[in-house]
Amino acid sequence: MKTIIEPFRIKSVEPVYFTTKEERIQILENAFYNPFLIHADKVLIDLLTDSGTSAMSSNQWAGIMQGDESYAGSSSFFRFEKTIQDITGLPIVIPTHQGRAAEKILFSILGGKEKYFVSNTLFDTTRANIEYSGAAGVDLICEAGKHPSIPAPFKGNLDTVALLKFIAEKGAENIPLCVLTVTNNSGGGQPVSMQNIKEVKAICKTHGIPMFIDACRFAENAFFIKLREDGYADKPIPEIVHEMFSYADGCTMSAKKDAFANIGGFLAMHDEILAQQCRNMLIMTEGFPTYGGLAGRDLEAIAIGLTEVMDEHYLQYRIRSIEYLCNKLIAAGVPVMQPAGGHAIYLDAKEFLSHIPVDEYPGQALVGALYVHGGIRGVEIGSLMFGKYDDHKKLIPAQLELVRLAIPRRVYTQSHIDYVSEVIIEVFQEKEKIKGLTIIEEAPMLRHFTAKLKSIE
Ligand SMILES: *Cc1c(COP(=O)(O)O)cnc(C)c1O
Repeated sequence: MKTIIEPFRIKSVEPVYFTTKEERIQILENAFYNPFLIHADKVLIDLLTDSGTSAMSSNQWAGIMQGDESYAGSSSFFRFEKTIQDITGLPIVIPTHQGRAAEKILFSILGGKEKYFVSNTLFDTTRANIEYSGAAGVDLICEAGKHPSIPAPFKGNLDTVALLKFIAEKGAENIPLCVLTVTNNSGGGQPVSMQNIKEVKAICKTHGIPMFIDACRFAENAFFIKLREDGYADKPIPEIVHEMFSYADGCTMSAKKDAFANIGGFLAMHDEILAQQCRNMLIMTEGFPTYGGLAGRDLEAIAIGLTEVMDEHYLQYRIRSIEYLCNKLIAAGVPVMQPAGGHAIYLDAKEFLSHIPVDEYPGQALVGALYVHGGIRGVEIGSLMFGKYDDHKKLIPAQLELVRLAIPRRVYTQSHIDYVSEVIIEVFQEKEKIKGLTIIEEAPMLRHFTAKLKSIE
């Protein structure tokens, strides 16, 4: 088999920014060891996120010029609406300025004290919006999803036995919604199988609990189903996608992921009564229902991107490029989540930096080392992001200490990725030199975005 190539050619380029190691040591210290506080022009390869960082196609840029900026009834909205209806089969489409705005609207309506939202794994903004409403978020990831180094085909699956047990314990009437995150971003970008989607839906239906899909990476998930699940090898991606959504009562989506857009999101659903409540809130916080916090041109770019992402040449290249990096790291003995996820590489920081205890944030320490060594920016997905404190202000750590290196869509080439693997492997070879961190300032919610840390000498 020949090399799987980037299925595009480059029409417009932008520079990457070189700095020296000495400069980066200073920059990291000035940024309080928090990659979110580093200026982007001091980063060489930016793997902080795959969100809003995609390269748009010439078609999307052409769509931008055709955006209809009418306040009400914009033709761009109707194109956006029809595209989403066709892809998902969900009849009601509500645009929002990004995924978390959709979450904010949904959970302020459905949330509240003494309610539980169950999920395979809630993403950080999803969990934050649930908790802000007074409700609790409950992650019921399958056993395979808890072990980074053991490969399994669908490590994003929800544990259906645990779901039944949880419903029996808390009562279906206290569970307003089940959220299936596809792929499971916080759990390693691992896919959810069609079988699991079907089973979760069946359980939810029996108990009268609606099931929503957090659909940010629906196309990547569909491609994994095609590759790994019996009976799907010959099915076209749009058909697999349609089946996935056929089990859902609705979805939230960030168009900054699998829609190749730099901004945008939406809510989609069947329930007209819920939709009316969502639209009322939308008008207050986002905008009129035919633009919802976006410009007409954004709606065009999203509609075009949603169609482009289901192209199999693209998805094959996308999934392969992540796997390529993952395989290089495995070959060098670097502890990395296996198998490769759909949008990112996840280094197992607990294993990588086994000399640093979890309350010294090994993930964040590794993020710093990758930046200093090679100008690469990643993000911690561990106890800085998800840790809580007990009554004695002692850290309750997250289940996993990961460092996510998210690969922006259609942005970096194979030589960029080769460079990334070289840097990671060099850092691994001198890992003993890396020191733990302590927090000196933090916010009460989503602290990882703004926390300030210092090195433990
Ligand atoms: C990015 C993301 C969100 C939030 O979307 P934003 O557009 O960043 O607000 C929600 N869920 C998942 C799984 C995500 O990856």
